[in-house]
Amino acid sequence: MMSNIPCGDVETFKVATKGVLKKYEKHIKPYVMSAYLNGNPSCLGGYCSKTPGDMTSTQGCEARGGEIKKAHKEIMEPYDDPNMESRNPLHLIGAVARDAAFHSKASNPCGKFAVQPSREDIIDDVMNDLRYLGEYTPPKEVSASSRRVQKVCNLSGDWLYSFWETGDGEEVSPDEILGKQVSIKSSLPSTSCLLSSLKKVKMEKIEDMAGLPTEAQTSVPKKEQLNDIKALTRMLTILPLDERKEVKAHLAQKRLYNTVERHKGEDVVMYLYRRAQRDPVKNAYDEMCNSKYIPTKTKKKKGKAAMERIEEVVDAQLEHDKDAGEVEEVATTPASRPPSRSPSYKSEEIQIDGPGGVLDAATADVNDDDGDDSVDEDKFERRGDRVIFGNELGDWRETSYDSVTRRIHCNCKRFSYFGDCKHCVCVEILHLEQYPSGMANEQWQQIRTKIIHNLKIQCGKLK
Ligand SMILES: [Zn+2]
Repeated sequence: MMSNIPCGDVETFKVATKGVLKKYEKHIKPYVMSAYLNGNPSCLGGYCSKTPGDMTSTQGCEARGGEIKKAHKEIMEPYDDPNMESRNPLHLIGAVARDAAFHSKASNPCGKFAVQPSREDIIDDVMNDLRYLGEYTPPKEVSASSRRVQKVCNLSGDWLYSFWETGDGEEVSPDEILGKQVSIKSSLPSTSCLLSSLKKVKMEKIEDMAGLPTEAQTSVPKKEQLNDIKALTRMLTILPLDERKEVKAHLAQKRLYNTVERHKGEDVVMYLYRRAQRDPVKNAYDEMCNSKYIPTKTKKKKGKAAMERIEEVVDAQLEHDKDAGEVEEVATTPASRPPSRSPSYKSEEIQIDGPGGVLDAATADVNDDDGDDSVDEDKFERRGDRVIFGNELGDWRETSYDSVTRRIHCNCKRFSYFGDCKHCVCVEILHLEQYPSGMANEQWQQIRTKIIHNLKIQCGKLK
């Protein structure tokens, strides 16, 4: 989770390191502490230590070393005693020369690297999202005197509940700034953040109306529904205006409390859930619907109980041999695993975070406070209150555009990795009127106008 702290956010890294050390000190070996968790993000790796799009991985060098070894082996092959000959430094120089020749500009078959990151993997999705925003038509308004029930079908939640600032950090309503070629900063809630706020608003409603006779409670959802992603998503789609405003107000509060400091009593893992950045896996929704998201209900005692939960999870995980939750986008899940692998080797495939993960169990509402009873309870989320969506981390996707330097910056994971992301595409189209090549025939200018119109109207209602 710590390696997913976005580029340049060193403050968050420092706070998180301190928290992790404090909470897990007993379990962390001294050399791990000094080698990786010494407070320098470069030593841990991950995104925080680099600039967006900058590759700092050592894998390339390691691969190159392997190639030289292979070349060396090939040179040794004709000899009767390769072991004896391998000591001859000339052969090693030969191997390096062979590798250098292969990688030289004249002969290098891989010489043409992509200088600009490719948008191939995101462009279809982002264009579809934008098309959808443009095509959105709200259901017809039903007059108050009519017997018909007002239909509701809301716009995509990240846009509907977005927050906007000018270059000076002044908060403005979307209709003042959308589509303009000025410095902006937009904050779009992540799916987890949005669903958690919705859950909170609905939960309050259930509590408020609990005293009423049951027949009067028809409009209130059942508590179990709030743990069901499908039901929650449905609620979000048909959320009436007054509740949309409540969700927006709750999100505004949450954004205010999304500080780089940890709040008093806030668990370090929950801190990382709100500050680190990672998109949910592609099929997160289907996966979550298949295995209903279950929050940790029972409040277990610190330490031993939490450890027991870890073991339970680990055992269950090994039994089911589930796919790893902590896979990075570069890793692909092998189609089939050799059955002969012993369980001890599978430990790396245990899901670390996400629902049912080891951390999930370890942090089941356990505080790592230092005996200080004062807790800023309403400023942070408890594990049981957060709706975890797929592998997602982070509460806000913050994208900014500077009209002076003409630079776009985003805190999302893809931007940290490639220096480019779907949010950049949105800024280019909506604010800078730059369209991807090959999109001319779709009359994107008209779609853009419709998107801005829709967003202004729908977001404007939540003021
Ligand atoms: Zn982004």
